[in-house]
Amino acid sequence: MDFPTRFDVIVVGGGHAGTEAALAAARMGVKTLLLTHNIETLGQMSCNPAIGGIGKSHLVKEIDALDGAMALATDMAGIQFRTLNSRKGPAVRATRAQADRILYKAAVRHMLENQENLWLFQQSCEDLIVEDGAARGVVTQSGIRFLSKTVVLTTGTFLGGVIHVGMQNYSGGRAGDPASIGLAQKLRALPFRIDRLKTGTPPRIDARSVDFSVMQAQPGDDITPVMSYMGSRALHPKQINCFITHTNEQTHDIIRAGMDRSPMYSGVIEGVGPRYCPSIEDKIVRFADKNSHQVFIEPEGLTTHELYPNGVSTSLPFDVQLNLIRSMKGLENAHITRPGYAIEYDYFNPQDLKYSLETKHMESLFFAGQINGTTGYEEAGAQGLLAGMNAALQAQGKDAWTPRRDEAYLGVLVDDLITMGTKEPYRMFTSRAEYRLILREDNADMRLTEKGHELGLVSEERWAAFCEKREAIEQETQRMKSSWIVPNTPEAELINPKLETPISHEYSLLDLLKRPGVEYADVANLKNAPEHPVSEQVSEQVQISVKYAGYISRQAEDIERLRRQENTPLPENMDYSVIDGLSNEVKQKLSEARPATLAAASRIQGVTPAAVSLLLVHLKKRA
Ligand code: FAD
Repeated sequence: MDFPTRFDVIVVGGGHAGTEAALAAARMGVKTLLLTHNIETLGQMSCNPAIGGIGKSHLVKEIDALDGAMALATDMAGIQFRTLNSRKGPAVRATRAQADRILYKAAVRHMLENQENLWLFQQSCEDLIVEDGAARGVVTQSGIRFLSKTVVLTTGTFLGGVIHVGMQNYSGGRAGDPASIGLAQKLRALPFRIDRLKTGTPPRIDARSVDFSVMQAQPGDDITPVMSYMGSRALHPKQINCFITHTNEQTHDIIRAGMDRSPMYSGVIEGVGPRYCPSIEDKIVRFADKNSHQVFIEPEGLTTHELYPNGVSTSLPFDVQLNLIRSMKGLENAHITRPGYAIEYDYFNPQDLKYSLETKHMESLFFAGQINGTTGYEEAGAQGLLAGMNAALQAQGKDAWTPRRDEAYLGVLVDDLITMGTKEPYRMFTSRAEYRLILREDNADMRLTEKGHELGLVSEERWAAFCEKREAIEQETQRMKSSWIVPNTPEAELINPKLETPISHEYSLLDLLKRPGVEYADVANLKNAPEHPVSEQVSEQVQISVKYAGYISRQAEDIERLRRQENTPLPENMDYSVIDGLSNEVKQKLSEARPATLAAASRIQGVTPAAVSLLLVHLKKRA
């Protein structure tokens, strides 16, 4: 039989982690299989059809810088784009796009189907093939055996998934899809630390039953942001509005009255839910003094009437859901097309992973996405890309690579998961990164594309575009450095009104740009204007690197200091219980986390600078 059954990398699961993993491995030139329950659901957004947001768009841009799919698919599917925090500094600015879920899936599937070295196969994975303690393939529901050098599991919310609506519950991976039961049982027999988490989604509403005239319209930005470095506004489909309504006292009364039938509050659900994306019943309990919460009414696409009411995720019984939705302004006659629900699923303690996302207990087995305790498409996609890439590197006999915390949010994500683990669904925020000014969403390509190219992840087309951009930034910076404005000249008169004090000596355009209130556009063409104006992406880089030069160099010094600690390894078998002076709590945390370096130890909650000094002393004694 010439049906292919031997691969370098097998990826199980075609969600956001799985699709990025499979694309990354295949881009690196290794023979890759993507095995998933259903080819129709490749790239499906289980919950809100939106990509990006604060902290998350940073991950999307990093995936893009390494030539992943998410940002480009968003440009092809985004129906409302906004820059969040646009008035704040560049470190916390973020791009968010409401996506048409059908267009998004189509874009991802198109990329998968046209990716060289990638095979797709629709079946459930029921078991792993293990040889000498290493994962060497998978077995499908109909007994087909696929062999491989490495396996990446990206099973999302499907492992042992249980769906709850009110006091009723049933097995499911998400609404309409079966749970993964066989594989969950096999994995539970392995020596991994497994626990349960929970997440939820709101009911969906038919737009034809909604009165938009009494709601506040929320249009996208006038100048539409673009998600991918290779994207453009020309890729964007038609742009439409979202709307805003609110819960009120009546809504809250309805929820309180239904609480005795809430699976969350009656103890039926045991898994911990996402702190930053709580259900509406959670919000009513936690913020009891608030008498209203904002609800964003978001279209699910251009060719469907379905709406996503963002902010009212719930697992209350259906009759309560209907009443609470209809208590809100504009939704008095709303027709619910799908009930909201909560789902509980198995996740693995990410402290059992290496930085490559390979498991510590089984060689050649990698985990990525929601299976590692994270929540969100972006967190999943970023891990997927990393796991797929490292699985491919292993199959090629090469060393693994993971960006450091000072190189990428992806580095922050992996380091947080591995050193601290997580007891609740982990989502990314800019506040999790200590080097925010360096890890901006606008410079992810400058941070990562060269490395991605070296690893074989980045196409020649993207590499050429990147080199051109880098060169243009350098040239424009040089031009502005060597173009001088002299006092009492027509050029000086043009810029003086923008300055607190008129210029009294010669200034380069670059120096003028450093002055508060002066923007690139104010100075760029005062002298030696370039024949062809530079792109927005180039002018943005020139402006940010000049305006924030002081902060950026200070962070660079901090990074250098930390790197010295990063280079101090902590032996894997270190006995923390014998180290004098460490509290029992710190000893226990270090023994559990087994940080790879002194710097990783310092990031564990509760490990104080004093404890780090004690570790250093102990290491010196051991040497
Ligand atoms: P998924 O997108 O879940 O993909 C898993 C894939 O693996 C699926 O294609 C599945 O068919 C396949 N699969 C599973 N087991 C097998 C098997 N044995 N064999 C073959 N294929 C298999 N995120 C947020 O950020 N905020 C939220 O509020 C939020 N709410 C959510 C609510 C619900 C009800 C659900 C279901 C998810 C929610 N999410 C939310 C999470 C978001 O959907 C996930 O973070 C994201 O989809 C995770 O991506 P993933 O690739 O890890 O897994």
